[in-house]
Amino acid sequence: MRACVLTATGGGGGIDKLAITDVPDAPAPRAGEVRIAIRAAALNHLDLFVADGLPGSPPPFPHIVGADGAGVIESVGPRVTAVRPGDKVMLNPGISDYTCEYCRAGEHSLCVSYRMLGEHLPGSVAELVTLPAHNVAKIPALVPELTWAEAAAFSLVTLTAWRMVVTRARLSPAETALIWGIGGGVSLTAMRIAKLLGARVIVTSSDDAKLATAKQLGADITFNHKTQKVAQEVRALTHKRGVDVVVENVGAATWDDSLRCLCRGGRLVTCGATSGPQVGLDIRRLFWHHWSILGSTMGNAAEYAEVVRRLAQGELRPVVDGVYPLERARAAYERLAKAQQLGKVVVEVAS
Ligand SMILES: [Zn+2]
Repeated sequence: MRACVLTATGGGGGIDKLAITDVPDAPAPRAGEVRIAIRAAALNHLDLFVADGLPGSPPPFPHIVGADGAGVIESVGPRVTAVRPGDKVMLNPGISDYTCEYCRAGEHSLCVSYRMLGEHLPGSVAELVTLPAHNVAKIPALVPELTWAEAAAFSLVTLTAWRMVVTRARLSPAETALIWGIGGGVSLTAMRIAKLLGARVIVTSSDDAKLATAKQLGADITFNHKTQKVAQEVRALTHKRGVDVVVENVGAATWDDSLRCLCRGGRLVTCGATSGPQVGLDIRRLFWHHWSILGSTMGNAAEYAEVVRRLAQGELRPVVDGVYPLERARAAYERLAKAQQLGKVVVEVAS
C-alpha cells in the first residue's frame, strides 16, 4: 500500500525525512478490529512533534505518520458488530486497552497504555489502517454531505477541545474565555465550542486576516498578539477583572500572560506546549486567587460519542484549511510547520 512515512526522526528537520512510498499492507483485522481503506487523513501539531522526535524510544522505521483519518471499512475481524464492510467511518486516534482501572472508570484517555495512531502506532496517512472497532464512528449524514476531508479533520481536535472546554474547564454561558493562537485546530474548535455554550470569547493570532476570519466564525473580541499586549488589553477590557477560562496550548511563550489574564477563581486549561514545556508559577498567586491549572489530553469514549452526536446535529462541522494529494504530503506538513493555516490541513490518500 502507499503511505507517507518517516524514514528517521530528530534534529528539528524531521519533515525532510518524510517519504511517500510502498509499505506492507496494514495487517488483516483480528478479533475486535477493523481495517479501513483511508480516503483522507488530517495533520495535527502532534505530527510535527513526531517528525522532530519525541522523548522516549522512537518507533520502528519506516514509520507511517498521521493520527486523524476517514475512509471506508474494508474488512472486520471476529466479534465486530457495530460496523461492517462498506460503512463510512472516522477514526478516533487514541487507542486504549479498555481493561485498566481508568478505562474501567470510563476515562479512556487516562489509560495506562494509551497510544496514539501515528505516534506509538502506524498512522493514518496510508491506504489501509487497522485499529480497534471501538475507535471508529460512522460518519453522520449531513446536508450538505461531509466531505472526506471534513470527516478526516474532525476527531482529534474536536475531542481534545471538547474535553478541555466542557469537561475540564466547565465553561458556562455567563463566562469569558481567552483562547490563544486561533489558527490552530484545537484553538479554533475550542472557540466554536465556547460559542456553542454561549460564552464570550476572546481570541488571539499574529495574523490580522486570521483574526478577521475568526470574527466571522464567532469570536467576540480579537487581539493580535504580535502587535498588542494581550494581558494589558484583556485586563482593560474586563475592567481589571480578568477572564474565567484561558485555553492554552502554546506553553512557555504565553504562560505568564495567561496567568495575568485569569480572574479570581479562574481556570487555565492546557493541552500542549508548542513554544516550550517549562514555565514558572508563583504558588502564592495560585492559592490567593483560587486558580485551577488543568491538564487535558484527548478525551474518553463518552466524550467522543457526544462530539459525534453534535456533528450529526450540524454543529462543530470542521473548518478545512486545505487539501493536498498524498504525493504532496510534505507541502501539507510545511504549511502546518509555518503556522500558515486556519483550520485543518488534510492529505487526500485516495480519490
Ligand atoms: Zn486502559
